[in-house]
Amino acid sequence: MNISDVRAQFPILKQKVHGQPLVYLDSAASAQKPVQVIEALKHYYENDNANVHRGVHTLGARATDAYEGARVKAARFIHAKSEREIVFTRGTTSAINLVAYSYTRAVCQEGDEIVISAMEHHSNLLPWQQAAKAVGAQLKYIPLQPDGTFTLEDAERTITSRTKIVATSHISNVLGVANPVKQLAAIAHKHGAAILIDGAQSAPHIKVDVQELDCDFYTFSGHKMCAPTGIGVLYGKKALLDRMEPAEFGGEMIDHVDLHHSSWKEAPWKFEGGTPIIAGAIGLGAAIDFLEEIGMDNIAEHDRKLTAYAVERLNRVDGLTIYGPEDRRMGLVTFNLNDVHPHDVATVLDNYGVAVRAGHHCCQPLMRHFQAAATARASFYLYNTEEDIDRLMFALHKTIQYFDDQE
Ligand code: PMP
Repeated sequence: MNISDVRAQFPILKQKVHGQPLVYLDSAASAQKPVQVIEALKHYYENDNANVHRGVHTLGARATDAYEGARVKAARFIHAKSEREIVFTRGTTSAINLVAYSYTRAVCQEGDEIVISAMEHHSNLLPWQQAAKAVGAQLKYIPLQPDGTFTLEDAERTITSRTKIVATSHISNVLGVANPVKQLAAIAHKHGAAILIDGAQSAPHIKVDVQELDCDFYTFSGHKMCAPTGIGVLYGKKALLDRMEPAEFGGEMIDHVDLHHSSWKEAPWKFEGGTPIIAGAIGLGAAIDFLEEIGMDNIAEHDRKLTAYAVERLNRVDGLTIYGPEDRRMGLVTFNLNDVHPHDVATVLDNYGVAVRAGHHCCQPLMRHFQAAATARASFYLYNTEEDIDRLMFALHKTIQYFDDQE
């Protein structure tokens, strides 16, 4: 992996911010787009733009081929058995909402249980809260350790024969920790429960094999892995997708329509009512091609090394707290500086061209666990370098100096 060649594919990185070269350390929120993806969108709109599935004309056929071709690429990317297990959604949030709405109603009775953890992103928490309320199920949490992680022993104790669904992130967007999802899947299955893995932070960084993990559902967002916003994937084992009713009804998803009764297509198309996210899916296909050409193993190694380098440098700063365990960390590091609000940290860093995120990271329960209102987070991707982290450290020392001078 030649980092200069990789960086050259990302036009946005060439700019200056406040007169300083841009150091983009916010890819966990949204990743930048390479020319290959921008060109794929341009090509589609300049040459093939038409609605899919219903047209017999040439552009309609080309658009359909490109859209369905992207489904095949997404299936290959996570090693699904078939492209029929790939539902295109707006992103992780809408993918989880679909399962929480539809699968919960298919399998949960009053008194059944849904098990998640307090580490989850709000997008993997609120949908289950709502679903549990709707069917009278109990929402249970695997307890967290002081460092914010959970143990498999505690998972074993929380999951029971009444548990119908378990949901957790593959990699936490706050801790950067990779959860033992394969073992968790085995525990869930032992109790007859299905498992959903929120892959928003894993699909961009590591090779994912849904068959190897033996997960029932896996969700991810295109925009965090170099694709456009507005496209994501719900992977579901075909038999489970077949048990789910659509959550949206209308054009495209139907088989036969009568005045009072209608029937729908098979999965995945029954879940894609209305004109689908055609350009987004094509952009996702181009992003997958781009990432696979570099190699997911190379990307994982690069991101892991960079994360370790950042942790090692940050650990040397007096008064800086890093959240989460030292091991199993991938792609990001979340921290706080004594006495300085993370919004102030992020603002001063921005003055040095360094973009990090500050806030609760859509994880308020986890923030409360740490008794922190907010934290700062630096996240890394294939276009970042050790020099980027050196610039972060330089800007961080300037931040400390600035706030020391105020005292
Ligand atoms: N889960 C995790 C772990 C995330 O990091 C995010 C995005 N921050 C989401 C879910 C939601 O993804 P999206 O906003 O793309 O739907």
